[in-house]
Amino acid sequence: MSKARLIDGKEIAAKLRKTVAAQTLTLRNSYGLVPGLAAVLVGEDPASQIYIRNKETHAREMGMNNFSRKLSKNTSEAELLKIVSKLNANPEVNGILVQQPLPTFIDAFTVIENVDPAKDVDGFHSFNLGALLRGSGGLVPCTPKGCMMLLETTLSDLNGANAVVLGRSNIVGKPLAQLLLAANTTVTITHSHTRDLPEICRNADILISAIGQPELIKGHWIKPGAIVLDVGINRKKTKDGKQILVGDVDFDEAIEIASAITPVPGGVGPMTIACLLENTLIACCQQNGVPVPEI
Ligand code: NAD
Repeated sequence: MSKARLIDGKEIAAKLRKTVAAQTLTLRNSYGLVPGLAAVLVGEDPASQIYIRNKETHAREMGMNNFSRKLSKNTSEAELLKIVSKLNANPEVNGILVQQPLPTFIDAFTVIENVDPAKDVDGFHSFNLGALLRGSGGLVPCTPKGCMMLLETTLSDLNGANAVVLGRSNIVGKPLAQLLLAANTTVTITHSHTRDLPEICRNADILISAIGQPELIKGHWIKPGAIVLDVGINRKKTKDGKQILVGDVDFDEAIEIASAITPVPGGVGPMTIACLLENTLIACCQQNGVPVPEI
């Protein structure tokens, strides 16, 4: 069997960003509207600082306004909620995201529920998750949305395919399973208590992993010809002591068995930010009663 085709998330995300930038320009020229994104960071977590910087840079490249806030690690929950409330009330801010993880003394659920659902561009608010469950409206969580876009570029018809999702987090696994269900796949969700995971994986036409376990999924877990999306981002030390990023899937083994696979890095990751920018554009249109462009 020949090697799997690489699903190039970098390239697909770059195309999406180009479209979002063009639509942002149209919005400005036709309606005088400039989408505004506020990414809120509490503390100095190094990975979060990189994520926030990327989001700011890409938002600016789209021609969007940046209202990001960087808050001290001692910021209290009450102070953070006050800032969220101010951003909610600012009509120039169309999208708000609060970077996770938050310090342990701040309840992430309370913070998410206090973001105006119309501005919740992460799609984490109960209102948006409820809309996802119902199958219409609402802002869709970015990583699952990006996964669906990658799948659609790979497989023209998802109808009836067996999709196995590894991981049941609120931000990836659960919303992704809903999107796969809406796309008429037959979905199995697995988690840390699942029995005989390799056997379940071997039944997957579409295998998507979001568990955060470096290279757990081996080649012999994969059905020949399956499509594999690897959401996991894990740090690994190589034999010569270098730090590298790897996914949840043993890439070298899986590429010999699957028909298409995402690399880590350069697969799902770039799609997450591109979808965040798309959500900000959509939120801006919806808040201003302007038709949402076809993307
Ligand atoms: P999480 O820790 O909230 O959830 C992990 C899930 O995996 C849990 O539901 C757990 O039950 C399940 N799990 C853990 N070990 C398992 C095992 N051995 N077998 C089966 N299931 C198992 O994680 P998360 O926030 O959903 O993130 C998961 C991974 O995806 C992480 O590596 C994270 O860095 C990555 N991630 C990547 C992106 C991206 O843009 N590419 C976005 C979000 C998360």
